[in-house]
Amino acid sequence: MKKLKYSFFAVLLLVGAGAFAQEQEQPQEKEKQMGHTNVNKFRQLYDEFATPNQYRTASGAPGPAYYQNEADYEMKIELNDDNQTISGYETITYKNNSPDRLEYLWVQLDQNIRKKDSPALEKDGSGMSPVIQPGSVVSTYMKEPFDGGFNITEVSKDGKPLKHTINFTMMRVDMPQPLEPGEEFEFSIGWNFNIVEHTVDRARSGYESFPDGNKNYIIAQFFPRMCVYNDVEGWQNYQFWGNGEFALPFGDYEVEITVPADHLLDGTGELVNRKDVYSKEEMSRWEQAMKSYDKPVFIRTQAEAEQIEKGRSTKKKTWRLEAENVRDFAFTSSRKYIMDAQAVKFPQGDVMAISIYPKEGNPLWEEYSTKAVVQTLKSYSRMTFDYPYPKAISVHGQNQGMEYPMICWNYGRPNEDGTYSDRTKYGMISVIIHEVGHNFFPMIVNSDERQWGWMDEGINTFVQYVAEQDFGENYPEAIAPNAKYPSRRGEPSQITGYMGGDQNFIAPIMSNPENVYQLGNNAYGKPATALNILRETVMGRDLFDYSFKTYAQRWMFKHPTPEDFFRTMEDASAVDLDWYWRGWFYSTEFVDIGVEDVKSYYLTAEPTAAGKELLSRYGYDPSSIDAVYVVEEDGEDYDPAMKDKDMLENAPNLKEFMMDNFTPEERAKLKTPKHFYAVKFNKPGGIPMPLIVEYSYADGTKEKVTYPVQVWRKNDAEVTKVLATNKELVGVVVDPDQETADVDVSNNNWPREAQESEFDNFKEEVED
Ligand SMILES: [Zn+2]
Repeated sequence: MKKLKYSFFAVLLLVGAGAFAQEQEQPQEKEKQMGHTNVNKFRQLYDEFATPNQYRTASGAPGPAYYQNEADYEMKIELNDDNQTISGYETITYKNNSPDRLEYLWVQLDQNIRKKDSPALEKDGSGMSPVIQPGSVVSTYMKEPFDGGFNITEVSKDGKPLKHTINFTMMRVDMPQPLEPGEEFEFSIGWNFNIVEHTVDRARSGYESFPDGNKNYIIAQFFPRMCVYNDVEGWQNYQFWGNGEFALPFGDYEVEITVPADHLLDGTGELVNRKDVYSKEEMSRWEQAMKSYDKPVFIRTQAEAEQIEKGRSTKKKTWRLEAENVRDFAFTSSRKYIMDAQAVKFPQGDVMAISIYPKEGNPLWEEYSTKAVVQTLKSYSRMTFDYPYPKAISVHGQNQGMEYPMICWNYGRPNEDGTYSDRTKYGMISVIIHEVGHNFFPMIVNSDERQWGWMDEGINTFVQYVAEQDFGENYPEAIAPNAKYPSRRGEPSQITGYMGGDQNFIAPIMSNPENVYQLGNNAYGKPATALNILRETVMGRDLFDYSFKTYAQRWMFKHPTPEDFFRTMEDASAVDLDWYWRGWFYSTEFVDIGVEDVKSYYLTAEPTAAGKELLSRYGYDPSSIDAVYVVEEDGEDYDPAMKDKDMLENAPNLKEFMMDNFTPEERAKLKTPKHFYAVKFNKPGGIPMPLIVEYSYADGTKEKVTYPVQVWRKNDAEVTKVLATNKELVGVVVDPDQETADVDVSNNNWPREAQESEFDNFKEEVED
């Protein structure tokens, strides 16, 4: 009977005390909670997420009615090295796998962003800057804009012109009849344009010119490409303004490219006429490379390239490439190129890791490029799925970092005397890992880059971090002794400056790339860090890696949306992450958790003023209640003589309770803590995070405790944890290993570490 009464009362008391604390200390929060708007940070994302349906399920997987349309291309291309122009003729076969009747088709004309009168040239209004680079003054105020953009010479079906309408970077093609579900439509487009010098007019593709007149071409977004039509956007015909990248359907490509006969060319897909375009020597080296698993084999050496680049062939060669199930096509061509390659083993067959670079890239490129490609294929495959394409090429393009299926352009050029800084070396290795990694996101896990920059850049930068760390372990000679690979993005501490910065220049990750400030932090750094923290601190590697792989495998060769990612991560792990997506992806809030103070207590059976007051407030008569009272050190009821006494001596009613309710064996297992501490944590930052705390004790021991993030669900501003221990607490550190991206660590310690200002130091000096 006595026991029953005790526990009934304890529950009431706890509830009452909790409500009281919240009322007193969190008036605004309380008000918001009671108002019409639910501001709880742990509420589910029903308002933000699209409703699941037959195309995309609530689990985050493709649904039974999921479909995607397909675009196959047959193209004949000619690159004119004399006047830096390119022309082409393509036949597109577009398959309507949707359940919808399509009245028209939309085709992307990305090159039109380079037209002289492009509205993209006037899209910003940020005024005059106090400091401008000379190159910017010339390009912005002194030069005529580059005369680029597509000349569309033909749009036809079976030789008959098709009505078409160009709107900036989009072209609507009107079909004679609507395209019914399940039907396909074949049509042709002829085009040409002036190739931009990408080192002068910054662009994702173009040519670089060298003093001897030679040019390296890195050619992409160079043919009219089909838009994506799907269940989410209808036609994704949001214009290309420069920042939001691309949304493209999968398809098969047969491409013939004619270039000067002394050029070396490679691109997306398998080179199907290698024997016609390689020398005998190059052919036999290629066959050697296909069996070389431990190091690259030179297909064309630097000495050979230096010889070839002196000539100017007037003959032409045609290179034929075929690719299956790719979302784009790009190629590179130059007579300056050196090339090396090696094979990488995969269960489904070998993949060729290839590097192509001019002599200006050496000695860096021959040393590190192919190594970085190999590491990327291995690390990314481990995190997602086995790399399904036959090859991956890293091409050296000055100031470039841009990705296409099976091929990408990367920066990293030594000084003219062949020396290079660590910054150049790591920058080059990192950009190669990043751009080759884009084969996985978004080339295969084909998200909509035009709308969601973070889905490819952020997810890719996260896996890049993992691959870079693997690179550091596998090639220790490439980095500083006993060091980790110096990743630029991924570590929590690297994002705090951005997240804690001026709110006027931060947009949520869930934004269109055209509408954000600091795209690098917004779409790359912050989401990559968010995923890294999710893996290391919130979910743990087992649950994260399984869920992440599930996402990659569910959506490989498909078109996922953000919800498909968010839902899959929860569906495969049983970790509710709505609070995490809300804080990190939908808001611009930051993480800042601190420790405010620590209070020490003892227990007693002697009724205290505060205890009696609380009991009466809830209608209990203190004299008729058997209670243990809690006394705060130095508080109103404090008695120093009691503080040092044993807990059970102080509270004989507690001892009696133990004697009545537990056997001697059970009693022997009960703890009798000497100290009771209430540690109050506060949270100036908006994002809730697990509360990670390191307690230090007088005996020199330390203990790391992680309280679940749910600790913040009822009070977003502060929580108090009670520590019952036999050790004397001497220190508290919040987030001791800096794994949560806490933007202000000055409040992370108790007792506060003495913080002297510069002024105090100065005063001390002059006064002493
Ligand atoms: Zn990228």
